[in-house]
Amino acid sequence: MRKLRKVIAVQQAKRRIYLDHNATTPVRPEVVEAMLPYFDERFGNASSLHGFGQENRGVLDTARGHVAALLGADAEEIVFTSGGTESDNLAIRGTIKARRRPGVAPHVVTCVIEHPAVLATCESIEKEGVEVSYIPCTSDGVVRLDLLERAIRPETVLVSIMLANNETGVMQPIQEVSRLVKPHGITLHTDAVQAIGKVPIDVNTLGVDLLSISAHKLYGPKGIGALYVRRGTPLEPVYTGGGHEYGLRPGTENIPGIVGFGESCRISKERLEEEMERISALRAMLEEGILKDPGDITVNGSGIARLPNTSNIIVSRVEGEAVTLNLSMFGFAVSSGSACSSGKSEPSHVLLAMGLSPTDAQGGIRISLGIDTTEEEIRSFLEVFPKVVGRLRELSPLKEHS
Ligand SMILES: *Cc1c(COP(=O)(O)O)cnc(C)c1O
Repeated sequence: MRKLRKVIAVQQAKRRIYLDHNATTPVRPEVVEAMLPYFDERFGNASSLHGFGQENRGVLDTARGHVAALLGADAEEIVFTSGGTESDNLAIRGTIKARRRPGVAPHVVTCVIEHPAVLATCESIEKEGVEVSYIPCTSDGVVRLDLLERAIRPETVLVSIMLANNETGVMQPIQEVSRLVKPHGITLHTDAVQAIGKVPIDVNTLGVDLLSISAHKLYGPKGIGALYVRRGTPLEPVYTGGGHEYGLRPGTENIPGIVGFGESCRISKERLEEEMERISALRAMLEEGILKDPGDITVNGSGIARLPNTSNIIVSRVEGEAVTLNLSMFGFAVSSGSACSSGKSEPSHVLLAMGLSPTDAQGGIRISLGIDTTEEEIRSFLEVFPKVVGRLRELSPLKEHS
């Protein structure tokens, strides 16, 4: 009996299909392997003068090089942090600290569809006397460039616009934003956490000064990330402590994390083109299937540039949360709303900003594919999905209203 239960559990575990890679990703086995020695044999503090520490200085430089190479940056422009949230905080708060002038309220421009790591940070600095403009987006989920241009003032010190949206995958026109803001000497930050490892990124082509990334969204470990800081960009640390990370981020380096992050960037660069092609073919198959059956579904941002792995759909007359929970019973992991606000059943701030009604926005589901996604998985998803939606639509309390 016990044995049978175990067999069933193993089979169920096997049948779990993960389609939520924008929330987080599994760590690549090669990355785990690269990290392991740094927990025990090579535990030294890289700041120590003795051999235990010194043998780890080199690995920090190597990892920095791998991260920089994926961004077209120099190794000295990479500052390791604890992840995307901290990088966004360092970019925004650190720029304000460095560029604040006595008697002048600094001004920041951002967009309504940003990740909470940027939005909540901007709301917080407003309480510290910083003025913030939140630029709306189009119905496709792209920042309104015309309004952004008009928002720029002499006091504007920072513009922060994400590279790709985490919920819809929609790419933001950062090169154009750069062209608008650079002549004014404004610092340009982009949150590239969702784009890194999914599309090619070059900091010089983009024309950004600061760029945030995180390892756990590209098959690396959680709790490690980086901020790219273009040489000469005014920035002050947010934390006080030692002089680590070029004086911008004190604290003993997370060496296993940094080694894993470096390795995940190195592998990602090697396989990027190939994976982009494979994953976008799978996404096309997924969306074609979803649109055919059960019908009455829209794909957000399908007409414009999107990340190749993300599908954000609106299923009319049902709640995204109900679909997500029902799919989960069949072993499929997708997300409704944004992962960071799940637990609350509020409609996504991104979908509302795109002009969807609260009822339609409740029907939003994000399916995000990854390097471990197979054609077989998409096929079984397409078998289960119409059944789940069909059943929910029959039961749906939203049925009458739309
Ligand atoms: C996940 C995510 C973050 C937060 O990164 P963490 O490493 O989890 O702190 C920030 N911005 C975007 C766009 C994200 O998708």
